[in-house]
Amino acid sequence: MTEPAGKIFNTQHFCLHDGPGIRTVLFFKGCSLHCLWCHNPEGISTENLLSFDRRKCRNCGACVNVCPAVHKIGEQGHYLDRSACSLKGECAAVCIPRALEIVGRDRTAKELIAEVLRDTPYYDNSGGGVTISGGEPTLQSQFLLTLVRGLKREKLHIALETNGFCDYGVYEPVLPHVDLFLYDYKETDPELHRKYTGVSNELILENLSRLSAAGAKILLRCPVIPGLNDSEDHFRGIAAITGKYPNLEGAEILPYHNLSAVKTGLMGLEDQKMYPRPPQDLAKWIARIREYGGRVVNPAV
Ligand code: SF4
Ligand code: SF4
Repeated sequence: MTEPAGKIFNTQHFCLHDGPGIRTVLFFKGCSLHCLWCHNPEGISTENLLSFDRRKCRNCGACVNVCPAVHKIGEQGHYLDRSACSLKGECAAVCIPRALEIVGRDRTAKELIAEVLRDTPYYDNSGGGVTISGGEPTLQSQFLLTLVRGLKREKLHIALETNGFCDYGVYEPVLPHVDLFLYDYKETDPELHRKYTGVSNELILENLSRLSAAGAKILLRCPVIPGLNDSEDHFRGIAAITGKYPNLEGAEILPYHNLSAVKTGLMGLEDQKMYPRPPQDLAKWIARIREYGGRVVNPAV
């Protein structure tokens, strides 16, 4: 029988910002939200994507030979028509400079665990481990459960990054294996939350309450986007949550960055609106949340 696989769009080694210590981050494909500022736009769709990096292309024509319906060489060099693409990846297989890549791969839990175990000495020396992220990992609930069980058999520290928007029944079986929930909290006003992410925050708050009552260790992760959710009401809301749930580690405030612009260009995705990011704002936002009594845990701020 074939081992079930999950759809993964990236594995990143030696990460320092997604949980304690040095970590490997596994990115699950597919998300239930559509945040206006999403910095992993390639993870939202459950479908694979064809990425093309013009800077690496040598106009060799190898891709044209295997897939002339999609790839062409014109006067300006290589160009492509994604609408004719079946995402089988023959073009990426012959593209030696790796200008072409298929984003999204079926990986078994066994393969992923073997890959993350290669970095065990780094986890051991730094108090690190594995972070499961996305996209939204709970969308692939069966695979998520298989993976966390396997990782825990190897005694690895597991952090699960989640947007909180799923049936609570998905969390119940994974809860005993997860050491830390990195729980997104994006906006306090339910209608603004719907406007920014596509859904209300009611289910997200209910799941937070139930996870906390079940004894989960949780770090609240709050992306702050200038002009959208950098409001006093939201800062008060973040502070209130850190006061309400005593077993919450606190809130980590995540500044906006606009790296997604590069990714949407590479993958032919719709452009995102960009927001300003004055460098002094992170400290200012944190100070406001603390003034409202919030527990903020950002390192060195
Ligand atoms: S195979 Fe790669 S390098 Fe060659 S033309 Fe196609 S995209 Fe460019
Ligand atoms: S929840 Fe995360 S991955 Fe999903 S759309 Fe929002 S920012 Fe992107």
